[in-house]
Amino acid sequence: MQKDSCIFCKIARGEVPSHKVFENDDVLAFLDLSQVTKGHTLVIPKHHADNVYELEAEVAAATFAAVPQISRALQKETDAAGINILSNTGKVAGQSVSHFHLHLLPRHDKHDGFGAKWEVHNDEYTPEALAAIAKSIQSHL
Ligand code: 5GP
Ligand code: ZN
Repeated sequence: MQKDSCIFCKIARGEVPSHKVFENDDVLAFLDLSQVTKGHTLVIPKHHADNVYELEAEVAAATFAAVPQISRALQKETDAAGINILSNTGKVAGQSVSHFHLHLLPRHDKHDGFGAKWEVHNDEYTPEALAAIAKSIQSHL
């Protein structure tokens, strides 16, 4: 289902222009308006889902299936040394558009504009604690 008011649905319908880099029946990839690094691309399912929680497995499969080919093209174009692939769900995680999307960010070095700071808290998570957490997560599947 597409949403009238959703900016990415409008882009998928061609009602709002975008710099398209890939398209098939289910998926569209286009340059992010705010380029963090050259080639910063958004990959979206054409079928609207607010976020990863709402994504149907088939829609997720179709969306992720396009990622290797697009990533290889971005690598060739930008001569990137690496790539970050990420998706933000929820305001706290940085989501600003409520239509599921993957960011593909070609990387060159640690000072190229993209930074995700990871603080690890290994001392709080003993092997026993990890086992209990994993088991508890499984109970929600
Ligand atoms: P989020 O913050 O939700 O993970 O990412 C949304 C991204 O969509 C942002 O990086 C923002 O620059 C991009 N964006 C928002 N509106 C538009 C638009 O109309 N066209 C394009 N190409 N990108 C957009
Ligand atoms: Zn949408």
